[in-house]
Amino acid sequence: MKILVAVKRVTDFNVKVRVKPDGSDVDIGNVKMSMNPFDEIAVEEAVRLKEAGKASEIVAVSVGAKKCEDTLRTALAMGADRALHIESDTAPEPLAVAKLLAKVAQQEQVDLLLLGKQAIDDDANQTAQMLAALLNAPQATCACEIECGDGEITVTREIDGGTETLALRLPAVVSADLRLNEPRFVKLPNLMQAKKKPLEKSTPADWGVDIAPRLQAVAYAEPPARGAARKVADVAELIAALQAAKAL
Ligand code: AMP
Repeated sequence: MKILVAVKRVTDFNVKVRVKPDGSDVDIGNVKMSMNPFDEIAVEEAVRLKEAGKASEIVAVSVGAKKCEDTLRTALAMGADRALHIESDTAPEPLAVAKLLAKVAQQEQVDLLLLGKQAIDDDANQTAQMLAALLNAPQATCACEIECGDGEITVTREIDGGTETLALRLPAVVSADLRLNEPRFVKLPNLMQAKKKPLEKSTPADWGVDIAPRLQAVAYAEPPARGAARKVADVAELIAALQAAKAL
């Protein structure tokens, strides 16, 4: 089984993102960037499947600016075999990424496409679903368990109030949720070794995909500031305070 894992370079989850003073965008100049946390889980799952003898090759793919190379090197250090960087200066929208991943999947003849359930920067939660539609492939989003069978996989997914288990014929698209696994820590020697693994470069045009944006962000705004906290003496005072704040 050949696995494609999509990894996005995003603002690190610890960074408190600020809106630019003119509200035109968020300011991510000079902030720490990392692999999208759900993508780390997807890479970890692919590596575990390979370690269990269920997968033959793992190809990590990232679409975006030059620095995505670092994200791909992390995926390689975790255990991916090779990487494809589709370089673009503009941040691609989910549909553009889905179109590119579909082209790669077709060319590489992959059996399983693993993505994160959502990117923590745009919170779109769209790419996996669009990719499955473009490939006309079965999909399971928000996966918390994956088991491999013969030509199919069984995926348990998190749904409201419980779980649902689906059997999917391969090739299939699966997006990883938080409880699928706990990603391994990448050690420095692995990062050094990862430098020797192949990382191929291409552009969206090489894949025949137009990534021109279709959406225009009209405005960005900070969430309303939280008011100061205060201590209450007892339950009666708490209820009175909540009623005054119209929270009850
Ligand atoms: P989204 O639909 O933007 O919330 O992203 C869902 C998932 O799609 C991410 O967790 C990644 O696995 C994948 N993805 C989105 N954008 C990119 C990108 N630029 N490069 C590689 N993978 C991406």
